[in-house]
Amino acid sequence: MSRQKTYLDYAATTPLDSNVLKKMMPYLETKYGNPSSIHKFGQETSEAIDMAREKVAKFLSCKATEIVFTGSASESDNLAIRGSIKALKRKKQAGDRVHIVTTKIEHKAVLETCKDLERDGVRVTYLPVGPDGLINLDDLRAEILPETDLVSVMYANNEVGAVQPIKKIGQIISDINKNKEHHTYFHVDAVQAANWLNCNVDELKIDLLTLSAHKIYGPKGVGILYVREGTPILPLITGGSHEWSLRAGTENVAGIVGMGEAISKIKNTKAEFKKMEALKDKLVVGVIKNVQGSKVNAPRKPEDRLPNIVNFSFLGVEGESLVITLDQEGFAVSTGSACTSTALLPSHVLIAMGLIELDAHSSLRVSLGKYTTVAEIDRFIKVLPRVVDKLRKISGR
Ligand code: PLP
Repeated sequence: MSRQKTYLDYAATTPLDSNVLKKMMPYLETKYGNPSSIHKFGQETSEAIDMAREKVAKFLSCKATEIVFTGSASESDNLAIRGSIKALKRKKQAGDRVHIVTTKIEHKAVLETCKDLERDGVRVTYLPVGPDGLINLDDLRAEILPETDLVSVMYANNEVGAVQPIKKIGQIISDINKNKEHHTYFHVDAVQAANWLNCNVDELKIDLLTLSAHKIYGPKGVGILYVREGTPILPLITGGSHEWSLRAGTENVAGIVGMGEAISKIKNTKAEFKKMEALKDKLVVGVIKNVQGSKVNAPRKPEDRLPNIVNFSFLGVEGESLVITLDQEGFAVSTGSACTSTALLPSHVLIAMGLIELDAHSSLRVSLGKYTTVAEIDRFIKVLPRVVDKLRKISGR
């Protein structure tokens, strides 16, 4: 009998929606014109990009001219941070300080970029988080200095699902900006939030916002950077006037069409949120009840959590072994960020939340999505205790 395969790793990537694929197909087959070409072949692909851009703009409640298509959210994070710092640096006098405020729990695309900029003399403040994975707004207020150029805070964390109070942060930065000469810009990595939370960039007072198509049932290899009109930014890839001269290179037309379609399908309703939350609560209750020595690493209040990501720690079990054994049992889960799962370092997010290394190493991320069923959750709850028991016996704990 072939084992059922159960995908519970939607935070790593989501399956491509078949309707999205259908919209993409013509641009992989018959509609192959270069969007920069003047002829009809070029016109039809250029129009397709325009339409996708409109759809993204509608989702973010912004202008289409403020949308830049990139090759990934990692690239968008890089463009937001490096590109804006590059532009701001050019406006400064020699010796002027360059300052970024970010958090200790950002995705590596933000953290490694900031670390790299530190090597070039940029000062970076990494805000701590509490045991609930949330930053303290007074800390943030205190760290925004007259010379601060950029604040970069992720909307929702990809490992534990903690949701930062982005609206309040936007307001704080906006208030501070009223009383100082040098403007502080606000970047938000909204990759994990897009399916669930308000992404209206005006309401949230965001200047730069990152999204990824493959986290919203679109194709891999397409990212978005929203750039508020007037935000200083320079390209990292030069060589053409594509994407408002912010990202040279012939566009990934099919991917962009897929992104447009995927984003227009996001329901982002309270009902969808509640439905997903109920499924996740079922999972949490089942795991905590059936597996002794298990705990959840997450904010205490439901409104501070994503409805689809849950991070557990299982005392005395190594997370990597758990992922491998569950994989053999037919379940795809993760220890945290897919990008760091090959490096056997404890999660920087869990360490920042105050977990000791041993507990951080015993963590497991389960993330649900629109195709997750109650039956899948039931199966997982049934199999997990046996797997944890087996691994505890092997490790002698
Ligand atoms: N930011 C966050 C919060 C993520 O979860 C991810 C992917 O896991 C990324 C950025 C990078 O996305 P991409 O794979 O499109 O580069």
